[in-house]
Amino acid sequence: MAEEKYIFGPVPSRRLGLSLGLDIVPSKVCTLDCIYCEVGLTTKKTIERREYVPVAAVLGELKARLEKGLRADFITITGSGETTLNSRLGFLIDEIKKITSIPVAVLTNGTLFYLPDVRRDCAKADVVLPSLDAADEQTFAMINRPHPDISVEKVVEGLIEFRKEYRGKIWLEVFIVDGVNTGQPEIMAIKNAIALIKPDKVQLNTAVRPTAEPGVKKVEEDKLLLIARTLGPDCEVIADFSKRGAPHKDGPLSTPARRQEDTAAADGDAQTRAEDLLSILKRRPCSLEDICQGLGLDKNLASKYVAELQSRGLVSSERIGGVVFFKAK
Ligand code: SF4
Repeated sequence: MAEEKYIFGPVPSRRLGLSLGLDIVPSKVCTLDCIYCEVGLTTKKTIERREYVPVAAVLGELKARLEKGLRADFITITGSGETTLNSRLGFLIDEIKKITSIPVAVLTNGTLFYLPDVRRDCAKADVVLPSLDAADEQTFAMINRPHPDISVEKVVEGLIEFRKEYRGKIWLEVFIVDGVNTGQPEIMAIKNAIALIKPDKVQLNTAVRPTAEPGVKKVEEDKLLLIARTLGPDCEVIADFSKRGAPHKDGPLSTPARRQEDTAAADGDAQTRAEDLLSILKRRPCSLEDICQGLGLDKNLASKYVAELQSRGLVSSERIGGVVFFKAK
């Protein structure tokens, strides 16, 4: 099989079912530099839209997968940075729609919706999943560390505008960091913004995995449920408080990929499996259980592939809340 650089999965995703990810922005090109980012610190903070990843190559990989008989609930367009920075996003969705009826989801940090072309591109998708972690400038600066040209006012206005124009589903993710956006005024500001944006769902997450900055604190489950109640009836908790860690976002920041064609052969081609694993760990940290679940491996085999990658100096580990997470270096 030709090497896949831009697609991964399908991954079992809490929000999207079985989701095939398309990664269209490299690490770590983003409009933000969130303290909780699972990919790492932003190395290029920009608002410039460009074809950061060749869309023709992404489509080529997708076509090859479809020809093999892809089964997925969603094709999820995402990035190892901010998805909408890829200026060919709209073209990509148009082309996907020509070759498959699988619905398309876009994962985005929501910061560029003040741009009409970003709204136009995203409106071609079936579901859009933006983020909004703060609705006051001070907290926004603290948690998301935006590009200087982005204000939270602009972000909220962009999302309101998008809602007016878009008939598909908007599922808004709010990432809660204990002691940063957990105060009553911060939560009420988010609630007011949600009332204006009118997403179809609000989904709460917190730091259950290794983060870009040390000391980013997760919110305990009971507190998160309380916040969800404050934010309203369409708000749910998507963070997984089980010991193994959880799916966070549904793209590169998602649980491990399960390659369709590999699921029958748990002890299949070791080289391919190790490369699969590396491709996943480049996009997000995973626990051993994540790896087992995502790649359909037993613990011994998963440990073997991890050990092999570690011996080649490609993977490091970190213990968070009693769980060891592995990440590509
Ligand atoms: S969490 Fe998403 S939006 Fe925030 S810095 Fe990481 S990639 Fe960018």
